[in-house]
Amino acid sequence: MLKIYNTLTRKKEKFKPISDEQVSFYHCGPTVYWTQHIGNMRAMVLCDLIVRSLEYLGYNVKLARNYTDVGHLTSDEDEGEDKLEKGAKRDKISPQEVADKYIKVFEQDIKDLNVMPAEVKPRATEHIKEMQEMAQTLLDKGFAYATELAIYFDVSRAKNYTRLSGQNLAKNIAEAGSGEVSDPNKKHPADFALWFFKKGKHANAMQTWESPWGQGFPGWHIECSAMAKKHLGETLDIHMGGVDHIPVHHTNEIAQSESANGKKFVNYWLHNEMLVVDNEKMAKSSGKINSLAEIKDKGYDPLALRYLFLGAHYRSKQNFTWETLDAAGNALKKLRNEVTEIKSNIKSAGEAKINENLREKFIAALEEDFNIPQALAVLWEVVKSDKFINEEKLLTILNFDGVLGLKLDELKTETGEIPKVIQALADNRQKFRELGDFNAADEIRQEIENQGYIVEDTPQGVKIKKK
Ligand code: AMP
Ligand code: ZN
Repeated sequence: MLKIYNTLTRKKEKFKPISDEQVSFYHCGPTVYWTQHIGNMRAMVLCDLIVRSLEYLGYNVKLARNYTDVGHLTSDEDEGEDKLEKGAKRDKISPQEVADKYIKVFEQDIKDLNVMPAEVKPRATEHIKEMQEMAQTLLDKGFAYATELAIYFDVSRAKNYTRLSGQNLAKNIAEAGSGEVSDPNKKHPADFALWFFKKGKHANAMQTWESPWGQGFPGWHIECSAMAKKHLGETLDIHMGGVDHIPVHHTNEIAQSESANGKKFVNYWLHNEMLVVDNEKMAKSSGKINSLAEIKDKGYDPLALRYLFLGAHYRSKQNFTWETLDAAGNALKKLRNEVTEIKSNIKSAGEAKINENLREKFIAALEEDFNIPQALAVLWEVVKSDKFINEEKLLTILNFDGVLGLKLDELKTETGEIPKVIQALADNRQKFRELGDFNAADEIRQEIENQGYIVEDTPQGVKIKKK
């Protein structure tokens, strides 16, 4: 029985999808105005692990992950500049060219991390009609009002507005940001824009559309409400995003969707914790950010980063250091060596089956609020076990890797044919190199060559080949 921690109820709940046919899953995607950092990448990998776990447990998931390409201001509330415009000025291209450029970067990055693409990838600028319709419904039902500068959602009209965060409204506002309000006609500081007019500080907005109320552009929160409704319906099984979205973005999504549709918006709210550096959230504003490109440039395999992410539960913070990435890279290398060894020791295809005991353990880990670190431990248990034959081991490992996504099925046996003794010599040589004892390292290289193999130092690490 799958249990999921629901932010809305603050409890682990038994998972019951609306339909047996499909699980509807909305994930707040990136604002595509620059290269996402590896904190954002952690959010994507964690979502991927949850989607893969659901699929493994027999659910058919329809995942929608949006691209925000308009309306997300530099503060998560209604203040600051549109992030896409900021990107356009910086890169000296149009906002849509900025979006195209960074969507490409994002899609390559998540591909490198073996994150499965979403089934639906809605772009905000392609759903302006749906956003306007929802805003109109909210106006018609008296949940919204217009000022000279914008159409606002009236939070005093929403039922239990702060229930997701569990905060009282004053605290919610205090934590929502600077409290700066540039529209004196806003009734309440927490009221948020559904539609900004091309006026005031947005008089020079670069991306605007006609609307029944005047030229302008949508607010960030209405985008997700409208796109989720269009692609997944009025009530979703799962909605996921980072914990940073609880007090403002997701609180506002609930208020809009439930007020407009008159129905519960989401049954299970899932929130991933942050990747941190020196106990501070990895964020552009902190300056302590790293991109996947940087990690690749330093010679790391992107899957080493994925392996690192497997090591912490999605509701736990994870600290990033280069040492932990090194350790993850080494563990992945060890795992690959073990698996290639197992592969190369398989003599015939045989009639092996997956090991049911360990499969049950693996499932139990997933069913406990997607305990991936535990699931990874079960994978290692398979690798290390001497209780069953290689064929059974390999099948079980590859089956589990369907969730963990380390591409173990792509390992070639050529490297597996490297005898253990050669591998051990190469490992020793590496240790001497790290200690700076290059004479000793060279002696070992000679010994390896004498035995018919050559070692090569590549940016991806040491490669061993037959002479
Ligand atoms: P953004 O483009 O800023 O809207 O962020 C995209 C996603 O990445 C959101 O779901 C954020 O919650 C998430 N995110 C941002 N920073 C981090 C971080 N340091 N660790 C994990 N997730 C993050
Ligand atoms: Zn969203």
